[in-house]
This record gives sequence, C-alpha cells and structure tokens, in this order.
Amino acid sequence: MPEASLRFYEELNDFLPLKLRKRNFRCSFVQGEPVRHVIEGVGVPHTEVEVILVNGESVDFDYALQADDRVSIYPVFEALDVTPLLRLRPRPLRSLRFVADAHLGKLARYLRLLGFDCLFFNDAGDANLVRISKDEGRVLLTRDRGLLMHRILSHGCFIHGIEPRRQLQELVRRLQLENLCKPFTRCMECNGLLAAAEKRQIEDELPANVRQHYDAFWRCDHCGRIYWQGSHYRELRAFIEGLSPSLGKQ
Ligand SMILES: [Zn+2]
Repeated sequence: MPEASLRFYEELNDFLPLKLRKRNFRCSFVQGEPVRHVIEGVGVPHTEVEVILVNGESVDFDYALQADDRVSIYPVFEALDVTPLLRLRPRPLRSLRFVADAHLGKLARYLRLLGFDCLFFNDAGDANLVRISKDEGRVLLTRDRGLLMHRILSHGCFIHGIEPRRQLQELVRRLQLENLCKPFTRCMECNGLLAAAEKRQIEDELPANVRQHYDAFWRCDHCGRIYWQGSHYRELRAFIEGLSPSLGKQ
C-alpha cells in the first residue's frame, strides 16, 4: 500500500492518539483515496480543518493522495492571513447562525444571551441536526466528533471545552464573534427576538415589586416572556464583561 506523511497543527492534535501528536507520521492509503478519508480515518473531523497543503500546495478535500505526499493539515487560523491559500469551504456564512447538540444546552443559552440565533433541542437526533445545519446554513456545535464526520455537513464546530463558559470563550475566539455580538436582544429560553414593550400594556403580568421599581421592559416575540434590568440582568452583564472587556461596552 502507498504511504503519505501527515502532520497536524495546533488544536487538531487534540483529536489524535498521543503518539501521533505534533509530529510527522506515515499513513497508508488506498490508491486514489481522497485526502479527506485519510484525515478522518485518524480521527479528525473535516469541519475542523481549514487548510490542507500537499507538498506545499493547497488542495481540497477530494485531492487523491499520491505515494510519499507530504500533507500538512491546519485548523481555522486566528488572525493569520491565509487569503493566498485555498479555504476548504465558503466563508463566512452570510449570517452566522447555530444549531447546538443536545449536550450543549447551556452554551446555546449563552449564545442567545450574546444575541446569536442558536437552535437547541433535547432530542433532535444526529440525522436531524445534520439536516438542520445543512438546510438552514447553521453551524453545528457538538462535542461528538463522529457527528462532524457526516459527509454532507459543511459547517460544524467541535467544542473542546467541558465547562459552558469556557466553551463560549472558545467559540467567540475561534469564530471571531466579538464584533457580531448583540447582547440582550434575544430570548435565552426560546431563541425568539426581544422587542421593547410599553409598561402600561404589560403591567398586569408583572410581579408587584417589579412593577414598582422598573419602567423599561422587553418582550420575547415568540414565547412572550418579559425581561427587565433586574438583578439577574446585572449578573449576566457582569458575565459578559468577564468574557471580554470589549463585549462589556456594547
Ligand atoms: Zn422566548
């Protein structure tokens, strides 16, 4: 069988067995096999790969490996100009929207807090998540790397962190979300949009102490939940400021 030499960079190494990390290693393949198969064969989902160089030239996922090719595989670059290189998928999506896997409910709520459209279901099932991602142009967020290996999936993102706040920071950094955030514009419960509400129109629905102390209100256009800038709001604002100082100013 022919062999190629592979080298994965940066966090792509997290998907590899220890002995293959941060080094060149040989990998055998079937004649004519696309490079994507070989990359996923060692455990790295294609959604995590941004640029592939073969003998110094950028190629796409369908490139048929040749014997003794030297393959360098890179993740999404942060702050590095890769315009001369072939990106593996169209970027960016026209509007950045998400669908979160069932184990990422808290991350989904945090994304909504920052104003991002993020669908979340307790029981969607893998096939549905992939279909929603594809049909609606949503980035699929998951900690299940097998899910990201679905062939039809084009925009997915493996979440490395375990703790939801870290997951959010990881995503903000990777997708450079800071300038796209619109905190407190979306319902954390249902993903609906918030709109300013007249106090006199919702007065009957407010607890007495809220009616007494607050005058500015927002209502979710989907589930009808009413929001005001109470102690919970202040906690969430502190949470957002803690993520990144520039976010706190918005
Ligand atoms: Zn709502």
